[in-house]
Amino acid sequence: MEQNATLETIMRPREESAEAPDGARKVFVKTYGCQMNVYDSQRMTDALAAEGYRPAESLEEADLVLLNTCHIREKAAEKVYSELGRIRKLKEERAEAGRETLIGVAGCVAQAEGREILRRAPAVDLVIGPQTYHRLPAVVARARRGEKVVETDYALEDKFEHLPPASRGATRSRGVTAFLTVQEGCDKFCTFCVVPYTRGAEVSRPVAQIVAEAERLAEAGVREVTLLGQNVNAWHGEGPDGREWGLGRLLFRLAEIPGLDRLRYTTSHPRDMNDDLIAAHRDLPELMPYLHLPVQAGSDRVLKAMNRRHTAADYLRLVEKIRAARADIAMSGDFIVGFPGETEEDFQETLKIVREVGYAQAFSFKYSPRPGTPGAEMPLQVPDAVKDERLQRLQALLGEQQRTFAAGLVGRTINLLIEKPGRKPGQRVGRSPWLQPVIVDEKAGDIGDIVKVRITEAGANSLFAETIS
Ligand code: SAM
Ligand code: SF4
Repeated sequence: MEQNATLETIMRPREESAEAPDGARKVFVKTYGCQMNVYDSQRMTDALAAEGYRPAESLEEADLVLLNTCHIREKAAEKVYSELGRIRKLKEERAEAGRETLIGVAGCVAQAEGREILRRAPAVDLVIGPQTYHRLPAVVARARRGEKVVETDYALEDKFEHLPPASRGATRSRGVTAFLTVQEGCDKFCTFCVVPYTRGAEVSRPVAQIVAEAERLAEAGVREVTLLGQNVNAWHGEGPDGREWGLGRLLFRLAEIPGLDRLRYTTSHPRDMNDDLIAAHRDLPELMPYLHLPVQAGSDRVLKAMNRRHTAADYLRLVEKIRAARADIAMSGDFIVGFPGETEEDFQETLKIVREVGYAQAFSFKYSPRPGTPGAEMPLQVPDAVKDERLQRLQALLGEQQRTFAAGLVGRTINLLIEKPGRKPGQRVGRSPWLQPVIVDEKAGDIGDIVKVRITEAGANSLFAETIS
C-alpha cells in the first residue's frame, strides 16, 4: 500500500509540481567512495547547471537528489540503501507540501545493480552508470515526465566530449586544488576488485582534451591538479606530435601551463610505473614528491591469487628505483587483509613489506567478497574475526609509520599551498608537498598562495607551522 502511494508521487507529472521557491530547481549530489567519484559529481553538477539546476545547500531543499555511489566493498554499497530509505521519507514529506523530488542513483552501485535498485528502493526515479553522465540532463527530463529510467549502457560516444565544462565561477568556488580524470576503467582484473566490471575497459582521454581542461582550471585560479584514473599510470594518448605519450610526458606538458604549480596523480599500479614517469619525479619540480602505489599484500602466494602480476621483491625494487630518482618521495599504499587463503605467515609478509618500505600514509581494508569477482568464489575465505585482528595489527604499524614521518618534518621549512580558512578564527589550512594538512596563521598568506613555512608541531592528523620572517 505504502509503495503504491510512493509510486503515485513519483508518477505525478511535472506540471503539478511546485518549483523551488526562488524559481531555480536545486540538486543535491552526495558522493561516496573515491576521488573519481568526487570529480564525477562535479561534472554531473556542471551538466545539470547547464539545464538550470543550482546546487542545494541541504538534502531537504533539493528537487533532485543524486547519490553517487561506491561498490568497492559491501559496506559502501549497503550504505546507499540505508540512505535511500531516509531520502524516501523526505520525498514523502515534500510531496505532502506539493513539491516534487526526484531521486537518482549514479556511480558504481548503479552500474553493478541497475534495475535491481528500483526493485529494492522503488522511490528511486533514475539509475545512471558512470559511462553515461553526459546523458544525465536527458535522463532527468524523462524521469520528470514520470518514467523510471535505467541508463547503464556503455556509451559509444565520448562522454567527456559531451560533458559541458565547469563555469569559471563553479571552478573558483571549488577552491585552488582540483581533480582531473584522465583515465577510466581497468583491464587488470585483480581477483578481489569490481572496477573492471563497474567502470569497464581501460580508456584514456586524449592529450588535447586534458590540456584544455587543465588550462581552464588554471585560468580560474587552480594551483594544484591531481590527475585521476583507476589505473592512472596506464594512461597513454596521442600527443600533438602524433607520437604516443605516456603519463610522464603528459605531466611535463601540464607543468608548462602558467599558474599550475603543483601536480599529483593517483592511483597507480606497480606494473605501469615506467622509466619516463620515474624520470618525471626526478626532473619535474611541479610533480609533488608523494606517490600512492598500492601493493595490497606482501606474500607472493597472495599476490598471485590476487592476480597482481608482480612479486613483493618486484615492488621493493621499484620503490628503490623511485627513491633513487627522488629521495624525498613519500610512499603511500593500499592494503587488503584476509584475502581468501591468507595465512598468518602470509600476513606476516604484509607486515614485513610495510616495514621495509616505510609508508608516510596508507589505506587498509578487510577483504570484502564482491559478487561476480573470482575472489568471492575462492575457497578458504578468512573469518571476519581474523580479518579484524589482522587489520588492527596492520593499522597499528601503519599509524606508527605515519606519525614517525610527520614528526620527522618538525623544524623543516617547506612550501605550503594555502587552501582554505581553518576551523578556528585566524587560521588557514594548506597542504604540504606530501599531502598532509598544515595549519598556519592567516597572516602566512592568502588562499592560493604558495608560501615558505616552518613546521613546529606534528598533531594526530595535521601539522602546525609558523611563517618565516
Ligand atoms: N587501481 C588501484 C590499484 O591497482 O591498486 C586500486 C583502485 S581500488 C578502487 C582502491 C582500493 O580498494 C584498492 O587498492 C584495494 O586496496 C581496495 N579494494 C578493492 N577491492 C576490494 C575488496 N573487494 N575488498 C577490500 N578492499 C578492496
Ligand atoms: Fe581494481 Fe586496481 Fe586491480 Fe584494476 S588494478 S582491478 S582498479 S585493484
